Amino acid sequence: MTNLRQLFLEHVGQTSDNPMMIEAERAEGIYLYGPDGRRWIDLISGVSVSAVGHGNRQVIDAICAQAQDYLHLMVYGEAVESPQVRYAQRIASLLPDPLDTVYFVNSGSEAVEGALKLAKRYTGRTEIVYYENAYHGSTHGSLSVMGGEEYRNAYRPLLPDTHCIRFNRMDDLCRITPRTACVIIEPVQGEGGIFLSDRAYLAALRKRCDETGTLLVYDEIQTGLGRTGTLYFFQQYGIVPDILCTAKAFGGGMPLGAFISSNRIMSSLKTNPVLGHITTFGGHPVCCAAGLAALEYILSEKLMEQVEAKGARYEERLGGHPAVKEIRRTGLLMAVEYENSAVTQRIVLDAIEAGLMTEWFLFHDTAMRIAPPMTITPDEIDESCDILLGVIDRATGRAK
Ligand code: PLP
Repeated sequence: MTNLRQLFLEHVGQTSDNPMMIEAERAEGIYLYGPDGRRWIDLISGVSVSAVGHGNRQVIDAICAQAQDYLHLMVYGEAVESPQVRYAQRIASLLPDPLDTVYFVNSGSEAVEGALKLAKRYTGRTEIVYYENAYHGSTHGSLSVMGGEEYRNAYRPLLPDTHCIRFNRMDDLCRITPRTACVIIEPVQGEGGIFLSDRAYLAALRKRCDETGTLLVYDEIQTGLGRTGTLYFFQQYGIVPDILCTAKAFGGGMPLGAFISSNRIMSSLKTNPVLGHITTFGGHPVCCAAGLAALEYILSEKLMEQVEAKGARYEERLGGHPAVKEIRRTGLLMAVEYENSAVTQRIVLDAIEAGLMTEWFLFHDTAMRIAPPMTITPDEIDESCDILLGVIDRATGRAK
């Protein structure tokens, strides 16, 4: 083991017994390069972050230019910082009404925290409804609406007055009542293993929220910035939330998140108490400059228009293999389902060994994640499929 890997285990806080231990010296496009000449194809984009590829020139130039101008000036919401203003205005111009006001934070969990607080503050209610197999982050508030008991139980007591319902189940909508401040849903469940909400279900959910005066919160932290073929997945259904949470790709590789709502709803954080949500670094100018550059790159290179064909190519190449039980997919976000968790684990670990960076899902360990940078080319897709098919053959005893 290299000295650095040993020091990593000794001094960098660990939360798992078996970290990937990939040591990269540099990363470019879809590739990560190790100091020993090893190379991995990035099939997960740092979990939906590196949408525009590693080392994207436009993003790096924007970071360098902003770093020359200024770094941190003042806590969030006081100084007029052009990267924040320009990014907020641009993202609002691409979202439907009334999503016109952006509160920047540092991460996905923080976006969820802000959204939950905003819903409680605006409605004056306390109850929050969430979903089985939902993942919204690791802070106490986001943990309180996580649909995986195993991860929550050790940290109780959590937020009170939270209630779990089943995904896509119309008969559970009656659990949303005039007591409910908000419902938080991933329109595509990510860590649950890539399960899409039904259009009819989301429409019924929207209607129920309107009837009960409940705010509808979408967590599009994993799906955002074009990975599913539209800027946010919900735009495919046209069913608009009251609050939208975004992060991951939103920062172009830098730490940035946001909760986005109408100016009217967002304004409730201004009074009783004033400064209803505070962050020092939220919307850091360098992160906003990077995020905006990534967004402009996605738009100018028409990457959103390409993800459907790219995802379909993976589906075609992998779907016919007898060890692949199912592929669930939207754009370039997909779950490849194998027979059981042991097979999945074997394939994932062998794939990493063979030069593919991938993993399984937090709440679904029988499926492998494929979500490469949106910049991946058809040849690179084929290269990754060739490697993966060989790995699957060997792991399932089919190699000739
Ligand atoms: N929400 C979803 C859907 C996520 O996938 C994640 C992270 O994986 C989060 C929230 C939390 O984001 P972060 O890790 O930036 O706090």
